[in-house]
Amino acid sequence: MHAVDIIEKKRDKLELTPDEIKWFIDAYTRGDVADYQAAAFCMAVYLNGMTTDEITALTMAMAESGEILDLSEVSGYVVDKHSSGGVGDKTTLVVLPLVAALGVPVAKMSGRGLGLTGGTLDKLESTTGFNVRLTKEELMDYARINGLALGGQTRKLAPADDKLYSLRDVTGTIPSLALISSSIMSKKIAAGAQGIVLDVKVGLGAFMKDIDQARELAQTMVNIGRNVGRDMVAVISDMNQPLGRTVGNALEVAESIEILRGGGDEYVKAHCLEIAAYMLKLAGQGEKWTDIDAIKAELQEAIDSGAGLDKFRTMIKAQGGDVRMVDNTKLLAQARIKYPLKANQAGYVHQVAADQIARAAFELGAGRERKEDDIDLAVGLEVMVKVGDVVEAGQTLAIIHANDEVKLLHARKFAQSAFIVKDEPADPLPLFYGVIE
Ligand code: URA
Repeated sequence: MHAVDIIEKKRDKLELTPDEIKWFIDAYTRGDVADYQAAAFCMAVYLNGMTTDEITALTMAMAESGEILDLSEVSGYVVDKHSSGGVGDKTTLVVLPLVAALGVPVAKMSGRGLGLTGGTLDKLESTTGFNVRLTKEELMDYARINGLALGGQTRKLAPADDKLYSLRDVTGTIPSLALISSSIMSKKIAAGAQGIVLDVKVGLGAFMKDIDQARELAQTMVNIGRNVGRDMVAVISDMNQPLGRTVGNALEVAESIEILRGGGDEYVKAHCLEIAAYMLKLAGQGEKWTDIDAIKAELQEAIDSGAGLDKFRTMIKAQGGDVRMVDNTKLLAQARIKYPLKANQAGYVHQVAADQIARAAFELGAGRERKEDDIDLAVGLEVMVKVGDVVEAGQTLAIIHANDEVKLLHARKFAQSAFIVKDEPADPLPLFYGVIE
């Protein structure tokens, strides 16, 4: 086979065979297909799309470009979750300990954040000493012993996706349904889960800006998973305003601990319970945990009894983090400056734009532009209002946590533009727009 023939076929809107896709991805992973050819291939896919069979073949070719984990030693049935990326999304930090507290072990590989805010691994590193560089054996051992382990994605997992993603990032080919869905699903399949709950975000702070696009992405990923024998659920959730009250690494860890302690923002808690409930429903395989409301009640008990927080504490301790920070979140990194952003007028909150809040957090140093960049764990924003709330003139809309006056100045500009307050009432935003079961 020749790379150019495959590129031309896709350019001419013809359907590729699974063999052609596998050959192309294998050759690219080995370095026998050049970056410029892979970039042309991605652009052809971006412009002409792919059929479900092509997307499934691409997903499996990328998953099989590295090792596929077998987590069956940890648990007979492994469940995983994935969020398509959001602002203030600390769901994993709350959901995993709760699922583990109900007896379903979780061994999860997560990513670092590239872009505006940190990823789950960055957040966890706010508990000083926490080690995310686990070998596959360590990940499995910790999950077996403690019921919960969270590590970084190894380079051996779907390496073709790693290479292609970097290329897509600089060739304008990220926002392709075929490429996003195969990229996400290749990593999930390689990470060994039998049941996968996808949290597909839609709105100002998400890849997908409208609900139809998000539904199509969710359905495409569900179809891929089912085509290769995985049990799938996808929820479509709102990302117009940040999820929960905080955006920023240590701030989000503190908020997650607060939820596990039984407090915190009701919206983000409801979001977490929904995701955790679907994970347990998959793990129950139709024999146990069949009713979502009953599962949520059990999850609430795991919060009330402290069992979820215990699992979180155990994970932090096992992986070398400072557990004193779990019991006293004031010990987490704290920013030097806390600047209150005030409402200019009284009225109703019509918008808390997640993308602008994320940009403000980025200006403060909460995210990274390149893989090697350092991030400031302490900085970020506490967002005090939601769409639909009533505010007085002069009321604090957000507290900006900063370590640098100049960065604060830049962040203020974006944070200010996130809020729209008007005289007429606004409806609160829903948490979810639908579920694909
Ligand atoms: N997340 C991924 O892992 N891949 C994409 O292409 C987009 C989001």
